Amino acid sequence: MCGNCLLQETAFICPMECPKGMRNGPCGGITPSKNCYVDETRKCIWYCIYKRAEQLGREEMLLEVLPPLDWEKVGTETWGEVVRQVRKTGTAKFIKDILSKDKEKKSKTWDSVFKTIRQPDWWQGDSDYHAPDYKEPVSELERRLHSGEFVVATEVTPPLNANTDKLAKDIELVKPYVTAINFTDSSSARPKMSSIACCKVANDHTVEPVLQIAARDTTRTGLQSDIIGVNELGIFNVLCITGDSAKVGPSPMSSMNILDIDSVQMLWLLRRMRDEGIYLDGRKMKNPPKLFLGTASSPFASEPRLQAIKDHKKVNAGAQFFQTNLVFDDDRLDLWLEQLDKRNILDKVYILIGIAPLKSFKVAEYLHTKVPGVSLPDNILSRMEKAGEGAPEEGTQIALELIESIKKKKGVNGIHIMSLGWESVVQRIVTDSGLLRK
Ligand code: SF4
Repeated sequence: MCGNCLLQETAFICPMECPKGMRNGPCGGITPSKNCYVDETRKCIWYCIYKRAEQLGREEMLLEVLPPLDWEKVGTETWGEVVRQVRKTGTAKFIKDILSKDKEKKSKTWDSVFKTIRQPDWWQGDSDYHAPDYKEPVSELERRLHSGEFVVATEVTPPLNANTDKLAKDIELVKPYVTAINFTDSSSARPKMSSIACCKVANDHTVEPVLQIAARDTTRTGLQSDIIGVNELGIFNVLCITGDSAKVGPSPMSSMNILDIDSVQMLWLLRRMRDEGIYLDGRKMKNPPKLFLGTASSPFASEPRLQAIKDHKKVNAGAQFFQTNLVFDDDRLDLWLEQLDKRNILDKVYILIGIAPLKSFKVAEYLHTKVPGVSLPDNILSRMEKAGEGAPEEGTQIALELIESIKKKKGVNGIHIMSLGWESVVQRIVTDSGLLRK
């Protein structure tokens, strides 16, 4: 289907079945029964790939950063290209080496054919870590993380109309308590004021913004064009995410087949643009943009060990910070952090844990049952249910307890407060958790 067959890298299961077109691992939307949240009648194809790779001892092959589709090839066979490459290597030599007991020789000859095909010159993906190629932090968020400060970021909901009064008010409300503010990019696949416009408003109010870019609504061309211009708007922090499926958005549903690039590919492309000064097509760029690159991470979307493979890949591709999905279970968080530690990446990425103060039992239930990758332990659900009228206070206390525990964890560099429209709670959370900067 894709014209660029990756079956050896994906445990011999074709990833094209993924409705989001993911080429580099699962999104954060696996259901508790390991099905796909876009089509719950099917298993998440990436979960199947990870499980089979684990059984076959091929997990590390999943780390190679795979390119976006070359749409000219989509629908064509890969075999013609394979035959051409085998001829280049020499058919007799290829067969001899492939049947050889010498593992190194076998793998070298195999790669001379298949790596050339799956990693075209314009991409050159690999499984290695590429440290950022600059010294001085490009943003205040990066500077504070770099200096070892436990950082607080938050999110302000973009408006549903062209008036920015409420946006400006919310920005002013949280400004004294945070280092940076994220603006979501059409979250839940619903149109809202663009993240880029909200970032401009934040800069006008002297607050540092984090620009979120969802792959769902982004083509490779649009991404590169937007990024070239962001520094001019005072934007240096960029969070690359896949985005919710169009299926969760309002009717009439937009195409679900437009995923041109995934979040790992966005990171790879933008890191190379920044550090190597090249466009995706390999052309040189004179003045590359300065970027502090982040991504989302979903510690509980499936087993922590499997999630860690995807997170490792994101770090290799270029992620310098993670903002995680909502965390309500700090013991389970330890399992994920341990897996990242085993992969030796805790010192290569700053981790900001997602915290949401719960305003009501209804919100708690909704997050637990409807939001992919989020689950609340029974004791928290029961505390919220029993709290009745006092639910906002109970929810705030739960958030404060979580922060207290999270602050002590190895590898955690800050929190990311997702207030879910309850911006006024940010002051209380930051002050009572002792995180207010003097
Ligand atoms: S859960 Fe996400 S990664 Fe898995 S098949 Fe569905 S859309 Fe693809």
